[in-house]
Amino acid sequence: MSVQTLVDPATGASFAEVAASSLAETDAAVARAVVAQRSWAAESPLGRASALRRFAAVVRDHVDELARLEVLEAGHPISSAEWEAEHVAQVLDYSAGAPERLSGQQIPVAGGLDVTFHEPYGVVGVIVPWNFPMTIASWGFAPALAAGNAVVLKPAELTPLTAIRLGELALEAGLPDGLFTVIPGAGPVVGQRFVTHPEVRKVVFTGSTAVGTEVAAGCARELKPVTLELGGKSANIVFADADLEVAAAAVPASVFDNAGQDCCARSRILVQRSVYDRFLGLLEPAVRDWTVGDPNDRGTQMGPLISAAHRDRVASFLDGVDVAFRGSAPTGDGFWFAPTVVLAQPGDRVAREEIFGPVVAVLPFDDEADAIRLANDTVYGLAGSIWTENLGRAVRVSRAVRSGVLSVNSHSSVRYATPFGGMKASGLGRELGPDAAEHFTQTKNVFFAT
Ligand code: NAD
Repeated sequence: MSVQTLVDPATGASFAEVAASSLAETDAAVARAVVAQRSWAAESPLGRASALRRFAAVVRDHVDELARLEVLEAGHPISSAEWEAEHVAQVLDYSAGAPERLSGQQIPVAGGLDVTFHEPYGVVGVIVPWNFPMTIASWGFAPALAAGNAVVLKPAELTPLTAIRLGELALEAGLPDGLFTVIPGAGPVVGQRFVTHPEVRKVVFTGSTAVGTEVAAGCARELKPVTLELGGKSANIVFADADLEVAAAAVPASVFDNAGQDCCARSRILVQRSVYDRFLGLLEPAVRDWTVGDPNDRGTQMGPLISAAHRDRVASFLDGVDVAFRGSAPTGDGFWFAPTVVLAQPGDRVAREEIFGPVVAVLPFDDEADAIRLANDTVYGLAGSIWTENLGRAVRVSRAVRSGVLSVNSHSSVRYATPFGGMKASGLGRELGPDAAEHFTQTKNVFFAT
């Protein structure tokens, strides 16, 4: 039996081992899910809604415990981890509204009555990365369950604990055995089996663009629908007519939150040339004040990176670059990395590749057209922010930037009630928002001759 050793990123010390599931165990979980899904789909809409509300309530009762686990396995600051656990409960509560609202249509036709139904796929496979282990899991499992599916979920090898606990809490809340099964294990074993297993009828994958592309190719061979949430290289676009103080104060959170290990991280800052020096002058104290340290401390804004290997990769982005200034980070054990601001040119590696660490590239632009061109000069298209006090410009630029999730004078990307997802190499399909559950259904049309 193979095991995954878990390491506390804040200390570098290993603290637990989790058994990695085999192919046979994965197949057995899918077989149980097939059976559980039939009864779940036959439940009344109110029955499914009530079960999800009970699940939400049980999660809410365990916010402290879930948050502590996320601090331990992922190094998230405690206040962020508590937000994440509460967010899971909110996604469940919001999804609980869906079973009673998945209305079909009645379409006028000759000679009878025509109606559509939103039928669940059956079993849905959800594959989760390590950066936001429980929130991203919930974006898949909650609406999939609401739509009448069973779910098999594979957490990332480095961070399985919160997902495993959520699987236990689902049972505690009274969800039927086999309906929602968390299967820790290796991507190429468990995750790949979701792609090839004929009874897994839809896959949701969040992770790197490289692996996501392979998952999509595998799903294509099975004619299996797939939702992909992949990488990003999003931009903060700061115009000369912005409130520069507000923008500069917001930038650290927009890229250094979760130590930059965020698909929505604004890892490029595009600044209009006429305010470039002034903006950097405002940014420097904001970066120096960004508190990096013990994730158990309530004052901490940023913890460590996830692993030693990942820290090496992030560090490689600083080779030969022009560092403008850095914040501070603890030294010693743990995978620490100080927030870093780099002056860059459009062709530089630091300005083109996803870093997934607390490193941001600053680039100047001349005018609105130049800003749009630079913002779109990337294979990715996930998130981004536009900073301007000019309403017309805000509308024009937000329509012109090829990204799925934008904000104006804000760095927020995620709300459970609004759609989330990427364009271009950042993904396919959308999660969250009013249509989330419908994305886990297929439309059936039935004509009744009269
Ligand atoms: P990753 O692609 O290495 O792994 C993601 C998941 O896929 C893990 O559970 C892994 O075990 C599994 N996996 C690996 N090989 C597989 C295979 N052959 N078949 C099926 N599953 C397989 O990504 P990561 O390093 O865990 O996460 C970081 C990446 O995730 C970044 O690129 C980040 O931008 C992206 N991400 C995107 C979003 C989004 O919503 N767009 C959110 C979070 C993270």
